[in-house]
Amino acid sequence: MSAGLSQRTAAGTAGADAAAPPMNRIDGKALSYRLVRSNRKSIAVQVCRDGSVVVRVPLGCPEEKAAEFVEQKRDWILRNIGKMQAAEQKRCQQELTPVQKNEKLLEARRVFPQRVEFYAKKMGVTYGRITIREQKSRWGSCSGKGNLNFNWKLIRMPGRILDYVVVHELAHRKEMNHSPAFYRIVASVLPDYRERERWLKEHGGEY
Ligand SMILES: [Zn+2]
Repeated sequence: MSAGLSQRTAAGTAGADAAAPPMNRIDGKALSYRLVRSNRKSIAVQVCRDGSVVVRVPLGCPEEKAAEFVEQKRDWILRNIGKMQAAEQKRCQQELTPVQKNEKLLEARRVFPQRVEFYAKKMGVTYGRITIREQKSRWGSCSGKGNLNFNWKLIRMPGRILDYVVVHELAHRKEMNHSPAFYRIVASVLPDYRERERWLKEHGGEY
């Protein structure tokens, strides 16, 4: 039996949550934007490097007017979000040379055991072998015997994401499922795990 953190289940979940900024439905695709009010005369829309949208409006401008403006500019906005996302993906996917890749693999083999040891102690769990691999569809897995597998690509991501996958797999030492009880264990170690999980779902594929 093994419980994995797969990449496949991750796709297409960039949905809205309660904390998200106001949504405007555009082209059947939810588009969120940030409204910035300032002492200016006209409305302007800007697509940032990360693909987020900022609408700049005069101080007294009603929200509906901003929404209307966004609606008028939707083709331009969608086109530019696409451009920004493509550029972002290109930056992340830059191929490593074989030497660089080997260095990263060695780094992963050094870092993962340290992080596993740290969190296992904190969580009061044991574990078996740790294997670092190139995996297409998984970030990590934990076997019934407690052997841990991690995808080497995690070493290129921010450390808090690597830690999330470590804690996730170690939590399977107590709960071999993704039940509420399992996530309570994860949350007890990483209260902000949802944000890390969301980051991994949204950006993991870029690595
Ligand atoms: Zn899992």
